[in-house]
Amino acid sequence: MLKVYNTLSRQKEEFKPLKEGEVSIYCCGVTPYNDPHIGNARPFVTWDVIRRFFARHGLQVKYIQNFTDVDDKIINTANKEGVTCKDISDRYIKSYFESMDALNVRHADIYPRVSETMADIVAMVQKLVDTGFAYALDNGDVFYSVEKFAGYGKLSGRKLEDMQAGARIEVDTRKHHPMDFALWKAAKPGEPAWDSPWGKGRPGWHIECSTMSLKYLGEKFDFHGGGSDLIFPHHENEIAQSQACLKDEHSFAQYWLHNGFITINDEKMSKSKGNFFTVKDILKKYPGEVVRFFILQTHYRSPLDFSEERLIEAQTSLGRLQNTREYIEELRGRDGAGESAKDLAEKAQALWQAFDEAMEDDFNTALAISQLFALSKEINIYYQAVSDGKAEFDKAGFAQAAKVYEDMAGIIGIFEQQEAAEDDGLTDKLMNIIIGLRQDARKEKNWAMADRIRDELKEAGVVLEDTKNGVRWKKA
Ligand SMILES: [Zn+2]
Repeated sequence: MLKVYNTLSRQKEEFKPLKEGEVSIYCCGVTPYNDPHIGNARPFVTWDVIRRFFARHGLQVKYIQNFTDVDDKIINTANKEGVTCKDISDRYIKSYFESMDALNVRHADIYPRVSETMADIVAMVQKLVDTGFAYALDNGDVFYSVEKFAGYGKLSGRKLEDMQAGARIEVDTRKHHPMDFALWKAAKPGEPAWDSPWGKGRPGWHIECSTMSLKYLGEKFDFHGGGSDLIFPHHENEIAQSQACLKDEHSFAQYWLHNGFITINDEKMSKSKGNFFTVKDILKKYPGEVVRFFILQTHYRSPLDFSEERLIEAQTSLGRLQNTREYIEELRGRDGAGESAKDLAEKAQALWQAFDEAMEDDFNTALAISQLFALSKEINIYYQAVSDGKAEFDKAGFAQAAKVYEDMAGIIGIFEQQEAAEDDGLTDKLMNIIIGLRQDARKEKNWAMADRIRDELKEAGVVLEDTKNGVRWKKA
């Protein structure tokens, strides 16, 4: 039985999917105006493992993650560089994928962008205005009226009275309540703007996630995730908007999961302190798999302290697991009809169960990884016994233990990049043969064949480039 800590109820709850055999997840994505940092990466690595875990249990997972491609930070960066907002967001969406691919984070099913969801966003704001949950000002700004929504504060555990008392002194007097927030912002000169019933403008941040999650996952979905810095106001506001719109306090996300903070050498990460690490910075020194493994060695809700020392420790630990994988590869090629691995296979089954129980306890990857280490140790002992001739190799029994090891690694998401790299040797050889055939076709002026090879490769996601040193290929 899977239990998850639901921020909404502040306790662990049994997970019951809304639809039998299916899981729907929405995780807040990045604002693409710079390279993702290690703090951004944590929720995405976490959700990648959760998705793998569900898939392993035969559930059909639908995972949506947005790109906030309309935002002040993007506009500022674009103005500074003298380029368009789209140039900035395209550049950093590409950078996002490069970083996450390196961390072996699989892609979402859909990556909606604000700029492509505008009609739906405007429709949702309109609905909130029509039902009295929002009000439009003469200048074209639209605000959400927090006092109209009885459940405001239920996710973050705050009370509206306390929030009012704590509100800053320079309150916007046009608002009905200091905590009212913008759903739509009237256009300012030099900013991208879209048509709306309130004139040209652009949406506030919170409304986009309500619109996108409801659009792609329906009125009720299982999980909503993100960093704990998003609980208030972002996720609180998402609930207020969505449940007001749907007139149902049980609609929208059922389970709210939030990642703990990341500190750097026990200090809060900030650009001004200079202790700000982008994933790309770290990847210059460490393989992505090490960074991924480092993140997962801590439970997702606990604070995670990032330091070079701990990264080196993670690298060493991962190296030990890697050694075992090599032993497995070595023994896999052998034949043996012994029964010496019976005990090992049984231990592997028990550890597999313990691994599963750890994951079912609010996705405790830290504890799950310790089961992987325990199995690694057992396999190493068996390998040594076989190598020393003390045990007659038991191919069938060993294969069972090896399978458990690989299944565990598959959920944690390690060893895959190496496998991909190992395959690259073969891919290179095959590509050289294909490129050679195309060169021959061109020499014979068989343009149709040469074009066909190029086009079919392109369709398969491979691009050929003519360079001074001959033809090169790359994945599109
Ligand atoms: Zn969001």
